[in-house]
Amino acid sequence: MRYLILSDLHANLEALRSVLADADAKGFDRLLCLGDIVGYGANPNEVIELLRARRPYAVIRGNHDKVACGIEDGEHFNDIALTAAVWTREALAPENRRYLRELPQGPVDAGGFLISHGNPYDEDGYLLSEVDALMTFESVPFSLAFFGHTHFACSFSIAGERSNLEMLGEDQVLRLDPEWRYLINPGSIGQPRDHNPRAAYALYDRDASSVSLHRVRYDVAAAQKKISDSGLPFPLAYRLEFGV
Ligand code: ZN
Repeated sequence: MRYLILSDLHANLEALRSVLADADAKGFDRLLCLGDIVGYGANPNEVIELLRARRPYAVIRGNHDKVACGIEDGEHFNDIALTAAVWTREALAPENRRYLRELPQGPVDAGGFLISHGNPYDEDGYLLSEVDALMTFESVPFSLAFFGHTHFACSFSIAGERSNLEMLGEDQVLRLDPEWRYLINPGSIGQPRDHNPRAAYALYDRDASSVSLHRVRYDVAAAQKKISDSGLPFPLAYRLEFGV
């Protein structure tokens, strides 16, 4: 069983299309989405519709999804994120707003492993450091969990007293050791922040116990132009070029 793991799509249609084409060529059985389908980018409806058309096995909501569909008001967002969320809320078709409202809160068991948007014990919590990861390993029982939210492809792992943090590079393959527990972030499709502008995703091969990380070039200029033309804040377009 091969799982395609998508996270932080952020309404970037060009990036999602390129990722799906790349993943189709590699092959997978089930599609999982770790949330933040919308927010920041200019194509929230198209991204939701493309994702739904691919009949995902499991999807959970992200913090931007919650604000865009009105579950939360975004009072903790910075000005740019909030401006984009309000723009998205107005742009969403009623059917797509309803879809976001009905998405489950993570973590969700996706078949013997967890998926969450932020921290598995707090869907809005950022998992950025080894300390964050150690607290998660102590408080939530799992062998393997995939999370998003930070937009950094990385792996935290632990076995007894040993622990490891690894930033995950392009085409890197992680062999999962049954003695270790893992928290893995596939990186962001729609707004990478690790200084690599290519869209990020992961494939988890359960039978082979391996996770491969992939980066895909996409038409950044087209995504930027749509953001500029739509009146969304300029930094949201600018940053895509540099992956920051
Ligand atoms: Zn995000």
